[in-house]
Amino acid sequence: MRTSAIALTLLFSLLAFADSGSNQSANRVWITDVIIVSPESLDHVERGSVLIENGRIAKVERSKKAKKPEGATVVDGNGQYLIPGLIDSHVHLASVPRMTFDQSAGKREMVQEYFKQLPRSYLYFGYTALVDLAVIDSRVLEDFRQAPLHPDLYDCGGSLPFANGYPMSFLTPAVRFKPFPNFIYDEKQADRIPAEYKPEDHTPSADVARVKSSGGICVKTYFERGFADDKNLPVMGPAVLAEIRKAATQDGLVLMMHANGFEAQQFAVDGDVDVIAHGMWHWGKLDTKTELPDEIKRLLDQIVEKKIGYQPTIQVLYGELAYFDPEYLKMHAIPRVMPKEMLEWFQSPDGKWFGKELNEDGSPDAAILKEYEQGPLRRVRQVVAYLASKDANLVFGTDTPSSPTYGNLPGLNGYLEMKQLQKAGMSLSQIFRAATIGNAREFKMDSQFGTIEPGKIANLVLLTRSPLESVDAYDSITTVFVHGKAVARDSLAVNPKR
Ligand SMILES: [Zn+2]
Repeated sequence: MRTSAIALTLLFSLLAFADSGSNQSANRVWITDVIIVSPESLDHVERGSVLIENGRIAKVERSKKAKKPEGATVVDGNGQYLIPGLIDSHVHLASVPRMTFDQSAGKREMVQEYFKQLPRSYLYFGYTALVDLAVIDSRVLEDFRQAPLHPDLYDCGGSLPFANGYPMSFLTPAVRFKPFPNFIYDEKQADRIPAEYKPEDHTPSADVARVKSSGGICVKTYFERGFADDKNLPVMGPAVLAEIRKAATQDGLVLMMHANGFEAQQFAVDGDVDVIAHGMWHWGKLDTKTELPDEIKRLLDQIVEKKIGYQPTIQVLYGELAYFDPEYLKMHAIPRVMPKEMLEWFQSPDGKWFGKELNEDGSPDAAILKEYEQGPLRRVRQVVAYLASKDANLVFGTDTPSSPTYGNLPGLNGYLEMKQLQKAGMSLSQIFRAATIGNAREFKMDSQFGTIEPGKIANLVLLTRSPLESVDAYDSITTVFVHGKAVARDSLAVNPKR
């Protein structure tokens, strides 16, 4: 009986193609009996059906009566929730959690396993589009795009650090220039820049042109005076930022600035950047009282008014805290997104090295957690709460992995960031919009992604719970559609259940 039904469906679809005179196989999927949750019409969350044709959304019907189109493979949504694929607009794919640039060399096989799983781990948590903000190793990105299943990947090309500034400063002077071919030349530091680099090749406009010709969609630059052992790093002035702004506008690129303190974010706002790539957890001299100072409110009002995209990236701080939280590595999702060998290595003394770096004087774990809670976490939450109350242009980005920590794991980190955003005061609909249409619009992908509307790429996620009712819904995924192809969530895990 079953066999003949399949045969009949096949026959019908063949007939349908013959009928339309098309010799291409119109690959049709009909997702039915599903609650459609799309950010452009949150006031119309209704049960309906979505037709996918050749990897794109062909039809959206918000009614129970919609009839199955001929020749379509049926996916019974069974009262589940259908949302657009999630977008994380701040990742660093070539960076391996817990490893510094030079450490991965000695662990090739482990690293290869990790990179093989990487695209699947993002998909496992519903991320179907990513933006890599600073390409360090383009081969990793090429491999990612070649993987049989992977999120759509965009990038900002090589980023634009100020000569000898952050993040070039992580490397020794002898080797820091080569990985940052788009660094910005600074005449005042001519004696600290190798002679092979000519000033005219490292002007803002030459750098931005290289990003554009490499296929980048955005320009990433930095304002960071440094922290810990690396304070007083050189930073650019307003004239340099103005040149970058001008070149980015001419080339149609989104201008993003790494800025996590009051001074840096004021600099970014004055320079009219499009996106601020971190939350404000450093308040500098303003950090004298526990309520949000008026000076900061005034700056945040400008961010709201200018509609500057704002990525809180609260998980950056938790990435560090993971070493002091005995529960972190016990999370059930971790062995789903991380290969076993690397996970075992995380637990080894060598794997825990970064935790030691962060806690040189050997304070108790609870003391460090408290210090973060009362300091940077409190500050960034206050800032996010204020921006959320003004309905600022909050866009979703995780900065995965942000430092050599095992606390920012691919895919999972997005889910944890969403929990942080909710805790900080963003509503569930604000979080949902930030990770879908907010990112799509900010990065000019909204003709392709971000909503469930005809014509867009069929990157969709099926969940058993509503993301408008609980943030935990983002861990209730059953199926991820990647360009129309239905992929069971479990099959994306490191060890699929049988
Ligand atoms: Zn980053």
